[in-house]
Amino acid sequence: MSTYSILKAFMYIKPSTLILAFFFTLCHVSYAATWDDITHLNRTAITKVVHVRSEHDVAQALKYANTHKLKVVISGTRHSQGGHITYPNALVLDMSYFNQITNLSLKEHTITVQSGVTWDEIQQKINPYGLSVKVMQSSNIFSIGGSVSANIHGRDPSYGPLIETINKLRIMFANGETKVISRQSSPQLFSAIIGGYGSLAVILEVELSLTTNTPLKKTVTPIDYSVYWPHLEQMLQHNNVTLHYGRCSIVKGKSFLKECYSVNYICKNHLPLSEKLNNEKHITRNKYLFDLSRHSPAGKKLRWHLQKNLIDIPGQIQHLSRNNAMRPPIKFLTYHSPDNTDILQEYFIPTVFFKAFMDDLRKELTTQNVNLLSMTLRYLKKNQESTLNYANDDMIAIVLFINIETDEKGLSKAKTWTQHLVDLAQKYNGTYYLTYQRFPSKEQFNTLYPDWKHFKALKAKYDPEKLFYSQFYQHYID
Ligand SMILES: Cc1cc2nc3c(=O)[nH]c(=O)nc-3n(C[C@H](O)[C@H](O)[C@H](O)COP(=O)(O)OP(=O)(O)OC[C@H]3O[C@@H](n4cnc5c(N)ncnc54)[C@H](O)[C@@H]3O)c2cc1C
Repeated sequence: MSTYSILKAFMYIKPSTLILAFFFTLCHVSYAATWDDITHLNRTAITKVVHVRSEHDVAQALKYANTHKLKVVISGTRHSQGGHITYPNALVLDMSYFNQITNLSLKEHTITVQSGVTWDEIQQKINPYGLSVKVMQSSNIFSIGGSVSANIHGRDPSYGPLIETINKLRIMFANGETKVISRQSSPQLFSAIIGGYGSLAVILEVELSLTTNTPLKKTVTPIDYSVYWPHLEQMLQHNNVTLHYGRCSIVKGKSFLKECYSVNYICKNHLPLSEKLNNEKHITRNKYLFDLSRHSPAGKKLRWHLQKNLIDIPGQIQHLSRNNAMRPPIKFLTYHSPDNTDILQEYFIPTVFFKAFMDDLRKELTTQNVNLLSMTLRYLKKNQESTLNYANDDMIAIVLFINIETDEKGLSKAKTWTQHLVDLAQKYNGTYYLTYQRFPSKEQFNTLYPDWKHFKALKAKYDPEKLFYSQFYQHYID
């Protein structure tokens, strides 16, 4: 083709297309062939990834997707596991470089961040001022946008899910318009976007309410699962419990999901506050031990033994700051294999039914020979503000870390027992967490998330062309 014919061809291209083409050469676009989450279960061919660095990048990318009839998926640190961040041929908005902290108010105890900021970055910023986040996952590696979109929950029993601590969101709709929303100004949108898995708008900025960093005393109490809730209820009533989690034995046999620990961090304001933030240690050692236990009953036994004698030692008291207690190790869990993968699942069971659910759960996991790698417990206060809410009562959150085979047979087996577990959750008026695999059926989702119709109606109102789309949305809601 001659230079003349190339120039002539340009004359017939619409100026808007030229501007968009220019935008994609300037901004951070990569033509990644596929996109996936950390489980490697959702690898999907996509059109391109925009590594967002400004609001302008988001606006231009949405314009491009609208013009070229592409679906848009929004991605944070990619720890959701059910096709939330993938859709065939989609344009991916990678928000992880959109990570400026735009305001910290020491007077109001609030922080405003762009949605690609991680909890770790927030902790680094606020720790010197004696401040701490109120609600965060058990670890600090996740993006704020991904956390808001899943309406995550954490270990502080005084709060329900994250929505309780969010003051405002700045969002961008599919047509490129931006808006600041709060529970006062736009209650319906606020409730639907928080916990809405990127289906309604792009979250640009989030204002979070903070609390004070306090000195804590960590205590570990061995407890039988049958008295776990009565024990915790007592603890919550009579002690100043700032953070809590439980852990149960995964060793098959008489201790399986019966022998547990209640780990409580009690606020001790008179103690000195450690000022430095800790970083994860012994990653290689912990990874090696975890790997040993992945496919071996003896390895599981050894790990449970070490857990009791090295990490959560009953009777041993440890002092640390709230911020450091909210930075537990996680990097040692990184794992990749062509044949199998580690997945998470979570079931929320009203406190009064915890024991009964555990009895059924133990039976199901044993019958189906599920390779359980860990089980931890949390307490979650009732909160129904989010449209797709999962805390419709005071709940015990039961977190299962499981290894599954990734061939067709393994996945089909996992789907079967997952659907049984969801049925069990329903039997006890509980729910399951939407952030993990889309193994549960649409019917199960419809029953356990009854406000989905309202959510779908809001989608039709704010994103009628279904620009924001994912395998998650397609499976459960469309
Ligand atoms: C090891 C591990 C431990 C975990 N522990 C906990 C826990 O303790 N408590 C808990 O509640 N959850 C926990 N989770 C689940 C986790 O909190 C969610 O998967 C969360 O969404 C992950 O954040 P992310 O940044 O990886 O989001 P991604 O997986 O990247 O995205 C999640 C969702 O958010 C949407 N999204 C991302 N950014 C934006 C944005 N800017 N605007 C609009 N939508 C957006 C995506 O489209 C997607 O639907 C855990 C997960 C793992 C793997």
